[in-house]
Amino acid sequence: MKAILKSVRIFVVVAAIFIFNSCNTKLINEDIIRLNYSNDETPSYYQVIEMYQELANNFKEAKLFEYGVTDAGKPLHLFVISKSKDFNPESIKRDGKTILLINNGIHPGEPCGIDASLQFANDILLNKNNLQVNLDNTVLCIIPVYNVGGALNRSHYHRTGHLSPKESGFRGNAKNLDLNRDFVKCDTKNAVAFTSIFQEWKPDVFLDTHTTNGSNHQYTQTLIAPQHNSMHPIHGNFLKDVMLPELYENMKKGNYELIPYVIPYDQSPRNSYDRSPKKGILSYVQTAKFSSGYTQLFNCLGFMTENHMYKTYYDRVMSAYDFIGELLIFTDKYSNEIVENKKQVDKAISEQEEFNLTYTLDTTNYDRIEFKGYESGYFKSPVTGVERFGYDLTKPYTTEIKFYDYYNPILTIKKPVYYVIPQAWNEVIERFKLNKIEMRQLAKDTSLRVEVYYIENFEDEQWQNNGHRAHRNVEVKKEVQEINYYKGDYIIEVNQASNRYIVEMLEPKAPDAFFAWNFFDPCLETREYFSSYGFEANALIYLNEHPYFKAEFEKKKQDDSEFANNHRAQLSYIYYNTEWNEVSYKRYPVTRINDKVRLPLQ
Ligand SMILES: [Zn+2]
Repeated sequence: MKAILKSVRIFVVVAAIFIFNSCNTKLINEDIIRLNYSNDETPSYYQVIEMYQELANNFKEAKLFEYGVTDAGKPLHLFVISKSKDFNPESIKRDGKTILLINNGIHPGEPCGIDASLQFANDILLNKNNLQVNLDNTVLCIIPVYNVGGALNRSHYHRTGHLSPKESGFRGNAKNLDLNRDFVKCDTKNAVAFTSIFQEWKPDVFLDTHTTNGSNHQYTQTLIAPQHNSMHPIHGNFLKDVMLPELYENMKKGNYELIPYVIPYDQSPRNSYDRSPKKGILSYVQTAKFSSGYTQLFNCLGFMTENHMYKTYYDRVMSAYDFIGELLIFTDKYSNEIVENKKQVDKAISEQEEFNLTYTLDTTNYDRIEFKGYESGYFKSPVTGVERFGYDLTKPYTTEIKFYDYYNPILTIKKPVYYVIPQAWNEVIERFKLNKIEMRQLAKDTSLRVEVYYIENFEDEQWQNNGHRAHRNVEVKKEVQEINYYKGDYIIEVNQASNRYIVEMLEPKAPDAFFAWNFFDPCLETREYFSSYGFEANALIYLNEHPYFKAEFEKKKQDDSEFANNHRAQLSYIYYNTEWNEVSYKRYPVTRINDKVRLPLQ
C-alpha cells in the first residue's frame, strides 16, 4: 500500500492507455476496469456493477452475488474474492479462515470507498505487487454500493461542502432514509438484504467507508474504531493493544497517515474557537443503529473510515485504498488470533450474566497523540461579508493533544434466563429470525410467571428521526405477574453468542432497542378507557362493593377540594386504581423469566 504500489498503479494506468490505443493487444497486468478518480469522477451505480461483473467474468477467484432487493427495486450485490475458489461461507469458516467485509456507498455522496474497493479488487485479482499473499487465510467480501437508490440519484449539488467528485449520489435511500441509522430497525429493504449478507457470511472484521466534512486538519483519512471499553475485554484489549497500533503505524509508513476521527473534546457551541481539537478529541460508543455498532453486537470488529472532503478526490480514493489494503494485511496476518478470539468472545458472551447498555466518557483518563492541524480563527466570508469560524491552511501546526478514549458503564442490567415475546409482535420476531437468533415456540397455551416492565416515563425526540420519534430516557418499574401465553409465542434463551443483540434490542432502556424505535408503541395506549357518563353506574357499584377503597376515595374528596369538584378526575381515580384499569396499559410486551424452568416447547 506504499509508494511501490502507487508506482504500480501509475504503470497500470499508462499500460491500460497504451492498450486502449493499440489494437486490443493484451498485456500482462492489464487493468480489467477503468476508473477515473484522477479526474474527480466516480462511476455510476450501473458502471460499478458492470465493472464487478467484468472482474467476476475474468477471474475464477471472484464471484458477484445478488441478495434480495433494495428499496429502489434493484438487488444488493456482494462481490467475493476467495483465493481457494470456495464461495461457501460455512466451509470457509470450517477451514479456519477469516472473512473481511467492506461496505461502500451507504452515503453515496461519500463515494471514495466505492472507487477504492473497485481498484483494490482489480489490483488484487491481477496480483499486483503480490497482493494475493494476503488472501491465504482471508476471504474478502465487498458490497459495491449499499445505498442503491441514493447512488442512482446523482447530482453535482448533493454535497454542499464538496468540490469533488464532479457528480455523486444522495445520502437518503430510495425511501429517503439514512441507512446508517437503520441497521437494527430495518425499515428499508437495503437493511434487510445487508442483514442477510452479514448473517450468512458472519465476517470477523468489517469496514464501512465514509467521507466527513467535519473539522479541518492535515489528514486525508480518519478512523472510527470500535470503542474498546464497550466490547468484551478479549476484543477490547486486542483492538487497543495490537490492532489499532499496528494499523496506525503501517498507515504512517505509507502515503496517508491516519488519525482517530476528530470529535473535539470541548463541546462548546459550534463555530467557536473552543471546538478546536487542541483541547483534545474523543472516541465514542457506536450504538446498534450504526453499521459498526450493529456488527459489534455479533462480536465482529467493525470500523468506519471517514475520509476528509477537503482533500482531493484522488487522495481520498488512494487513502481509502491503502486502508483497505492494511486492514486486509492485518486480518490475514492475525487470522488465527482473530478466529480464536472470536470463538472465545462468542463463548464468553453466551455465558455473560450482565450487560452494559449505556456508557459515559471517563474525563480523567486519556492517551496523548500527535495531531497535525491548521490554526483556526475568524475570517471574513467572501459570500456574506460577515466574520465566520474557519481554518487558516497557510498555518499548519503539529502538537500533542489528549485523546479521550475511555468509557465507563452507567447502566448495566442482569440478563434473564429467557425472554418471552408474544407472536403478535411479528415485526420484532421477523428481525430476530433475520439475525439468526435461536428461538423456540410454546407448544400449547400456557400461563407463565414472568417479570414484567411497566413503562413509567420516557421522552420523545423533538425532531423526526428517520421516520420515527424515538423514545429516550426511558424509566421502568418491575413487577411479577402470571400471564397467559398462546401456542406459538416465542421463548428466547439468553445463552447465545448473539446475546448482545438479544439484550440490547429487548431491554427497553437500551438506546437503540426496539422500544426506542417505536416497535412497541401500541402498549403505550389504553384501548377501552371510560366515558364520564357511561362509567358512572359501574363505578358506583364498585365503590359499594369495595368499602375499603370507597373510604380511601371519600377521604381524598374531603382532603382535596379541587378533586372533590372535578367529576372526570374522580372517575379517573376510580378507573386507574382498581381492576378497571387495563393491566396491559404501558406494560412492555416482552417479559423476562429469571430462573431455568421447564417450558412446554415445540
Ligand atoms: Zn457517511
